[in-house]
Amino acid sequence: MRFPSVVALALLAAAPPTGAAVNVVATTEDLADLTRQVGGDRVKVEAIARGYQDPHFVEAKPSFILKLAKADLLVAVGRELEVGWLPPLVQQSRNSRIQPGADGYLDASLTVRILEIPTGQITRAMGDVHPLGNPHYWLDPGNGRHIAKAIADKLSRMAPADAAYFAARYADFDRRLAEAEKRWDALMAPYKGLKVVTYHRSWPNFVDRFGLDVIGYVEPRPGIPPSPGHTLDLIAEMKRQGVKILIVEPYFDLKTPNSIARETGARVLVLPPSVGGDKDITDFIALFDHDVDLLVRTIKETGAK
Ligand SMILES: [Zn+2]
Repeated sequence: MRFPSVVALALLAAAPPTGAAVNVVATTEDLADLTRQVGGDRVKVEAIARGYQDPHFVEAKPSFILKLAKADLLVAVGRELEVGWLPPLVQQSRNSRIQPGADGYLDASLTVRILEIPTGQITRAMGDVHPLGNPHYWLDPGNGRHIAKAIADKLSRMAPADAAYFAARYADFDRRLAEAEKRWDALMAPYKGLKVVTYHRSWPNFVDRFGLDVIGYVEPRPGIPPSPGHTLDLIAEMKRQGVKILIVEPYFDLKTPNSIARETGARVLVLPPSVGGDKDITDFIALFDHDVDLLVRTIKETGAK
């Protein structure tokens, strides 16, 4: 259990109750949690995509439109992660407050570090679902801090009477995250340069933060299912480089990963990339606690290096 610091608690207690809570819809459970971290009881937050779903492909439901219709603020991942499902929902909500460009639309990608931004002319290669850089950027805790700050700033503009409350909540989250980062860095420090393969390109920010090396992907391109030729090349490369760990997001079919594992002797590691991806991943910090712990345990068991 983690508790807010004494100073933050004093600030929280001192904040007078104000108007109605800000109604927030976040496209993912990660953004919903970061909103709760800084918004506390001055926000009502709902997420659309569940943490165990592929955030690129979410089935639109009428209930989502109803949620969006009532929202004061929509927090989105951006970089076209939700391009396949969010725009029609927002449009059908007929809520002018949360249309792109309106005050109640927050693109969380604008203040974070984005990797894999295409250089030169941007062509949407067939099936490439990352045309504007990698949209899985929340998998760097440092980016989580930037997102939380952007949300706190936005909430403060929307509910100025609660600005001190949001600032105190943000400061407390920042402190708890910094403590957790020391823990994760210490656990991961022995494994700099460790070679892994991942199914989708979900992890560039994570591996960059913790010094791992992704040498290949099960998908030939982001959003394109595995093909026999690509899989054979990947198997050869994994054997050549002695890769022992194959990271798979929970929403992909395990058939190809399992056959790659049989051929190479690597271990398939199902690693959730989002809050809600497993029952103990109840918030943003717990996401990294879970993933770092599981990864380190698997590294030790497989003798990967
Ligand atoms: Zn993706």
